[in-house]
Amino acid sequence: MNRYVEEVINGAKAKYANQPEFVQSVEEVLSSISPVVDVHPEFEKVDLLNRMIEPERLFKFRVVWTDDQGGVHTNVGYRCQFNGAIGPYKGGLRFQKNVNESIIKFLGFEQTFKNALTGLPIGGGKGGADFDPVGKSDAEIMRFCQNYMTALYRYIGPDVDVPAGDMGVGGREIGYLFGQYRRLKGVWENGVLTGKGLSYGGSLIRPEATGYGAIFYLNEVLKHQGDTIRGKRIAVTGFGNVAWGVMKKLAQLGAKVTYVSGPNCYIHDEEGVTTDEKLNFILDLRKRNEIDLKSYADKFHCEYHANEKFWGTSDVDVYMPCATQNEVGIEEAKKIVDSGVKYYIEVSNMPTTNDAIELLRKSQLIIAPSKAVNAGGVGVSALEMSQNSERLVWTEEEVEQRLQNMMVNIYRSSLEAAQKYGLGYDLIAGANIAGFIKVATAMCEQGIF
Ligand code: GLU
Repeated sequence: MNRYVEEVINGAKAKYANQPEFVQSVEEVLSSISPVVDVHPEFEKVDLLNRMIEPERLFKFRVVWTDDQGGVHTNVGYRCQFNGAIGPYKGGLRFQKNVNESIIKFLGFEQTFKNALTGLPIGGGKGGADFDPVGKSDAEIMRFCQNYMTALYRYIGPDVDVPAGDMGVGGREIGYLFGQYRRLKGVWENGVLTGKGLSYGGSLIRPEATGYGAIFYLNEVLKHQGDTIRGKRIAVTGFGNVAWGVMKKLAQLGAKVTYVSGPNCYIHDEEGVTTDEKLNFILDLRKRNEIDLKSYADKFHCEYHANEKFWGTSDVDVYMPCATQNEVGIEEAKKIVDSGVKYYIEVSNMPTTNDAIELLRKSQLIIAPSKAVNAGGVGVSALEMSQNSERLVWTEEEVEQRLQNMMVNIYRSSLEAAQKYGLGYDLIAGANIAGFIKVATAMCEQGIF
């Protein structure tokens, strides 16, 4: 590995030993851009890598809210403006009880390269709170969102920083956040948030975008192998917004999701989650913050396995982790390799630990990285920002066509970057390199700060 790269990784490990997810993402990205740094010694002269792993700004604030019984609760809110070299900071908000500085920083770091890959002018950011939405009433969610925005509104804006949804933050939460921003600012700054409702500036296809984009990307991978999507059986983890988009697009293309897992169970539905009835059922489970799939298995008469994961099953063609970070560790990776399944397409942000990825890479598997595969979500967010700026609404066909072109371009630019550096069909390194070069170039051209 390049000496400068190694020094920066070791420095991050020592300095941020208490931020394991962040250090993991730094190591993953930097180790794969090593061949680029080899041929660009000028990066070290301007200490580009140490600058790149340090967020431009990180807000941490108190969010106090009152529950329906009058009890007072205090949570910690975050917004990390990681890198603004190529556009306003852009990235979602995650409301989940395990949210901390390490998770927000890893997500903001990943987002920087992902956003660069979209080809659109968006910098990297991420935020959230250690607030647990599970079991909260609608009124409690509203009060939490309002208080979160009251703490943050001064530091964001359509040309400054544009938050959106992530885990625990969907259309309902974005509505409450937007309402509070508008109330406080007294202006119609429609592009301050994305993932909005269609009645007040949201984009068609935004809810589906991450999942649809992932399937458009998978389609390119399959084409490269002389394969097609029709008839494919897919195993997904998670049944949130992203997995739902994946299921819906697969059904349209004549393929199907046959395995779905939740945190403590999985179902096996050989017919596939393909009908509107099943897809709406999944959507409904998510709206209710349900974490079990028993009700799905009962209603649609399929296998239900409590306290088990499906890794290792061989009666699928593609594994697509769509749940959360580090869900695939070394044990799961061994099962995946042994299963003989050919494609491992990451969808959720950093679903695989670094040692697991190393093991998967040594096998025959074809692997695609999440920062490329899931970039369609934020990509359509950028299209929502464009529509808000021109005060126009694009048709479903137009947004979907742009999304599809974007995913094809992300796939191609990743592949070209890998080939340029002699790495062959390495989509992981290719995505990191393509995103890195864009951000690095913009930073270098803008001077030292
Ligand atoms: N949270 C999503 C992501 O991880 C979407 C972010 C956005 O739309 O700004 O990319």
